[in-house]
Amino acid sequence: MVLDDLGSSLRGTLDDLRGKSRLDEDDVQAVVKQIQRSLLQADVDVDLVMALSDSIKTRALNEEPPGGTSARDHVLKIVYEELVELVGDSTELPLESQTIMLAGLQGSGKTTTAAKMAWWFSKKGLRPAVIQTDTFRPGAYDQAKQMCENAEVDFYGDPDESDPVKIAREGMEATSDAEVHIVDTAGRHALEDDLIDEIEEIESTADPDRSLLVLDAAIGQGAKEQAQRFEEAVGVEGVVITKLDGTAKGGGALTAVNETDSSIAFLGTGETVQDIERFEPNSFISRLLGMGDLKQLAERVERAMEETQAEDDDWDPEQMLEGEFTLNDMQKQMDAMNKMGPLDQVMDMIPGMGGGMMDQLPDDAMDVTQNRMRKFDIIMESMTDAELEEPRAIGASQVERIARGSGTDEESVQELLEQHKMMRQTIQQFQGMGDGDMQRMMKKMQQ
Ligand code: GDP
Repeated sequence: MVLDDLGSSLRGTLDDLRGKSRLDEDDVQAVVKQIQRSLLQADVDVDLVMALSDSIKTRALNEEPPGGTSARDHVLKIVYEELVELVGDSTELPLESQTIMLAGLQGSGKTTTAAKMAWWFSKKGLRPAVIQTDTFRPGAYDQAKQMCENAEVDFYGDPDESDPVKIAREGMEATSDAEVHIVDTAGRHALEDDLIDEIEEIESTADPDRSLLVLDAAIGQGAKEQAQRFEEAVGVEGVVITKLDGTAKGGGALTAVNETDSSIAFLGTGETVQDIERFEPNSFISRLLGMGDLKQLAERVERAMEETQAEDDDWDPEQMLEGEFTLNDMQKQMDAMNKMGPLDQVMDMIPGMGGGMMDQLPDDAMDVTQNRMRKFDIIMESMTDAELEEPRAIGASQVERIARGSGTDEESVQELLEQHKMMRQTIQQFQGMGDGDMQRMMKKMQQ
């Protein structure tokens, strides 16, 4: 995730300030150094970093902490406010009928983002349609169609037509029932003039209310020029930063946003249609600084829990957190997690739980991809009720029987049992948090 280690490195420095009521210049310098290091490592423009650290320094030394505030909290608040200022407001996006055009380089994640945004709008109760005008990249049509099917949203494309402007026109007509039109455009490796001509034509045909520039978080300093060129051609109202789930740094995209005076609309955090978040500066920075973001988490958890519960009236997530974690619970949990997004991202949003706790788990502990789930479902169908409730009693002969019965192999059955064991341990850590913490968290989630 962007600027990933800012939160943890900063927390360490800030912890050194605990107990102090006033900060001296050295203290402030130490904090500012940490911030500079993290931002520069994340590819944020040097000038921007310097401007930011100057204002943090000036404010931390000159502003009087409000009565009763520790020096640590005071400086944290300043850092928080300055970072929120740096990333800016999120792009305005009214929940009403509109047309949105996506622009960006090939591979930046436009097609994926189009389907994700359609999914997002559909969850907000609007009827979206994706219009795929990328006739340049082989496979764009199939990929977009498949993703829109997954998102259960309308889709228009024409694999036999080579004129993107015609597709845009026909697509707008064919999807006139939809409330939100998302027009995906072709990207090229570089900003070639014919791409710019083409996107201008598509723009005048589709007449979008806003154009969003899709930027890969890994883009680095080149983002600035891309943003400027697209801004000149079609006007950029907002930016979508994709692939923030990877090792990408994100600072280049942030710089581009800042330099071109645009704003961030969405963040892409994975490859499936649900891996999209509306950019919220306050919660984004809170998470970055490890303050947690219960609002986003609450929304995600609620949505996932509702969907899972709607399918199975008997399942009570709270009960699962109290009692023994069975294979049946695991199945429901994986289903809910799939709807919520990867658990490590979810954990990052819980105060005090980001980073550390997840680092102790093996990488694949939280691997709940749909393929794995499907395989696990099939295996579980060959288990008895007693085995589902008490998987620890499953021995070698049962493993053999289950593998045979489900048409899989013993290794897969073992894998399922391992996964269950790891998840049970995680749940036990939750339980170990103490009733008070857990209840507070559940309550907050339900608010
Ligand atoms: P386009 O050429 O701009 O339409 O880009 P695509 O939508 O085809 O995306 C290029 C690649 O990036 C695909 O393999 C996507 O699955 C992947 N991708 C897009 N967005 C994300 C994201 O937020 N996270 C991750 N991990 N991969 C992404």
